[in-house]
Amino acid sequence: MPDQSFDLVVLGGGSGGYAAALRASELGMTVGMIEKDKVGGTCLHRGCIPTKALLHAAEIADAARESEHYGIRATLEGVDVAGVTTYRTGIVAKKHKGLQSLLKARNVTTIEGAGRLTSATTVQVGDSVITGKKVVLATGSYSRSLPGLELGGRIITSEQALDLEYVPKKVAVLGGGVIGVEFASVWKSFGADVVIIEALPHLVPNEEEVLSKGLERAYRRRGIEYKLGIRFSSVTQDDSGVVVTLENGDTIEADLLLVAVGRGPFTQDLGFEQAGVALDRGFVTVNERLESSLPGVYAVGDIVFGLQLAHRSFQQGIFVAEEIAGLNPAIVSDVNVPRITYSDPEVASVGLTEAKAVEQYGRDEVQSYDFSLAGNARSEILGTTGSVKVVRRKDGPVLGVHGIGSRIGELIGEAQLVVNWEAYPEDIAPYIHGHPTQHEALGEAFLALAGKPLHAL
Ligand code: FAD
Repeated sequence: MPDQSFDLVVLGGGSGGYAAALRASELGMTVGMIEKDKVGGTCLHRGCIPTKALLHAAEIADAARESEHYGIRATLEGVDVAGVTTYRTGIVAKKHKGLQSLLKARNVTTIEGAGRLTSATTVQVGDSVITGKKVVLATGSYSRSLPGLELGGRIITSEQALDLEYVPKKVAVLGGGVIGVEFASVWKSFGADVVIIEALPHLVPNEEEVLSKGLERAYRRRGIEYKLGIRFSSVTQDDSGVVVTLENGDTIEADLLLVAVGRGPFTQDLGFEQAGVALDRGFVTVNERLESSLPGVYAVGDIVFGLQLAHRSFQQGIFVAEEIAGLNPAIVSDVNVPRITYSDPEVASVGLTEAKAVEQYGRDEVQSYDFSLAGNARSEILGTTGSVKVVRRKDGPVLGVHGIGSRIGELIGEAQLVVNWEAYPEDIAPYIHGHPTQHEALGEAFLALAGKPLHAL
């Protein structure tokens, strides 16, 4: 491959990298994007998309099981894992092809190979030097483990969990965060026994407490076990399974242990520090404009400390391209990035929790309203319970929205606009939500906070 020069070189073709490449190209820059595996990265190939396909297949299995409740005679004969795999990989392949075509159509040059940063303007790929007036680092993340916990065999990460060719009888899941509870949800729907181990006092511990408690109640009803506020101590494995020991001496036997304790930034041995890019615990140190300590080199996505989410990576990629083009884009702080856990039930939020709002503004300055989905006809039809909680500043804007229930993730589109636009409940309450929709639950909370509840006391 010959040496090549571009206005912008992007290292890594995942959500953050390809978003930066597409936007930069749209803004008239020539762009070279280096990818060592497949464009689309973790989200498309090993993360968001395949897991959501699994969760949808799980929903279909549950719908068959529960069909009698709706007057439909259906029985669940079983889960055909090969069939689920065909469905899942088919979706990924289609989206991968679409993305490749889009990059080509937008004149982004994709360079295959592993890149290494050698200076503020150069990346080495094999024998070739790829030069950019500016460089964006977007190398993503990997599944972390705990000190002394060796991965392999029956001790797996989300990558191997996706590719399992069978439904295990019993799985232990280490970590009650997003990835852990999503896989627990899938496996339970597919017929496995599941136990989640979480060191913090709640499942999805970063969420509003009412959501964590709601998910715990729902999982108890579904027969998903969890052990909270207890640390993992050790694990052994043999041909027949794993034995997990907790710090109180309790043991859990299972076929597999899924380690879902977070993701580490993929920044080692890529030349970053040698070239002058400062790292902090592996994450690239950036200023609020996402520029690293090496002028002209930016970082986006999971290698930037904070929420590791695909849509945050997209936003950061677009932001950096516009920043380089001199458009002075607006900063979206992490707290205002929507967060969705696609378990059954779903958990979704944006903005401040009530506790954080009180911490920031004081108890007397914060109001909230929690609308139960029991008062929402669409949720009743769908057979889901849950709630939507809106937190506002007293006589001020909406600060946060937090929901739990089937399909509640869809509400976060409206919620993130309200929070980011700092809308007042009084201003948005008059606007109309279609009936019957789950969006009405959000509308009811706005109405209540504006002092004029409709379907609530
Ligand atoms: P990545 O997508 O990891 O892309 C980095 C790319 O860089 C990779 O393609 C890699 O091959 C390439 N690369 C690395 N080093 C080099 C090199 N030296 N040279 C060339 N190429 C290189 N997020 C959501 O928003 N919603 C979800 O539902 C969701 N579900 C998830 C489920 C799972 C199981 C997992 C693991 C993650 C999930 N995520 C989800 C998180 C999401 O996948 C990440 O936040 C997102 O992919 C980060 O994008 P990125 O561009 O920073 O990194």
